Amino acid sequence: GPAFITARGLEKHHGQTHALRGVDVTIRQGEIVAVMGPSGSGKSTLLHCLAGVITPDTGEVTIDETQISALTEDQRSRFRLTRLGFVFQFGQLLPELSAEDNVALPLMLAGTRRARALVQAHSWLARLGLEGMERRLPSELSGGQAQRVALARGLVNAPAVLFADEPTGSLDSLTAERVMETLTEVVRNTGTTLVIVTHDARVASYSDREIFIRDGRVTSPALEGAM
Ligand code: ADP
Ligand code: ADP
Repeated sequence: GPAFITARGLEKHHGQTHALRGVDVTIRQGEIVAVMGPSGSGKSTLLHCLAGVITPDTGEVTIDETQISALTEDQRSRFRLTRLGFVFQFGQLLPELSAEDNVALPLMLAGTRRARALVQAHSWLARLGLEGMERRLPSELSGGQAQRVALARGLVNAPAVLFADEPTGSLDSLTAERVMETLTEVVRNTGTTLVIVTHDARVASYSDREIFIRDGRVTSPALEGAM
């Protein structure tokens, strides 16, 4: 298929650190891509630039024909809320909110009324095998259950792209495999493009393609996707 996410010439400094040194990436709609590389190589910085969480010093990012690097901060924040989903390591759920309210949150932030948002939240929780857990607090869930709640929250707004940063980082390997199986099955069924940052080769094995980053540069011939 055609390019869905395009990054061209991304440069990013954090203070004196040159975190991205001219990164080009092309990702197709529905692709599952793993961004891999050593700690400190720039993976998270790349993910944050692709997702419009931070702005590169130079370069452009386009997602589904929207050049997000050209948007104002308000427009970018709206784009993130309505078009993108995020999953991070365990611990990202709001501890005072029940599972259903954690999942409903992105919809409510985008303006959906709570009652309607909860219907969607329940449907996603059921789909991820969490029926009956709707009212539990994060502290009342196992690590795997909490991460499934985080997946539901990432998917609830039917994002065009789901960004996951070490989504199984704190889970034991069996639980991690189950979460990855569920995640990849759901994104394949919904046609969601998935970008996963990981340094775990087992997590990357669920992807269609790996992009390797070292010292702020792409080191694999993955720029144009040989698929
Ligand atoms: P990775 O995700 O591969 O571990 P990062 O993108 O987090 O790499 O970091 C790349 C480099 O930029 C590292 O040297 C890191 O210490 C530095 N860095 C990242 N974020 C910041 C920040 N907010 N302030 C200062 N340095 C940062
Ligand atoms: P990861 O585990 O994904 O590589 P990091 O530990 O690199 O995450 O970064 C976690 C957060 O801290 C990020 O928001 C990143 O921007 C920030 N960060 C990373 N390195 C530094 C640093 N040297 N100084 C300040 N903030 C940093």
